[in-house]
Amino acid sequence: MSFAVFECIRCGTRVFPQRYYCRSCGGGQWREVEVAEGTIEETTVVRHRMGAGSRPGALLATVATAAGPAVIAKLEAMADRGQPVRLRRDADGTIVATP
Ligand SMILES: [Zn+2]
Repeated sequence: MSFAVFECIRCGTRVFPQRYYCRSCGGGQWREVEVAEGTIEETTVVRHRMGAGSRPGALLATVATAAGPAVIAKLEAMADRGQPVRLRRDADGTIVATP
């Protein structure tokens, strides 16, 4: 599944997640803009999650998308800051970044 950010129809401001009103112009209508690529800004390993039992830690990354907004994504393999990734959505809606 492809990943998309939201663009204000009135002024073009792009956000993620979608907001009720645009902070720039007050508009309330958005269109989806698909974005397949981004760059890693930061990575982190979440080791202790409530209810996760003994499953291994989740690798997460803050990704600056090519469309503008930064998103938190599940990182499929360790990668360094500045490294390009491909973005998509899992079947359950999770944003996944692939180095
Ligand atoms: Zn706007």
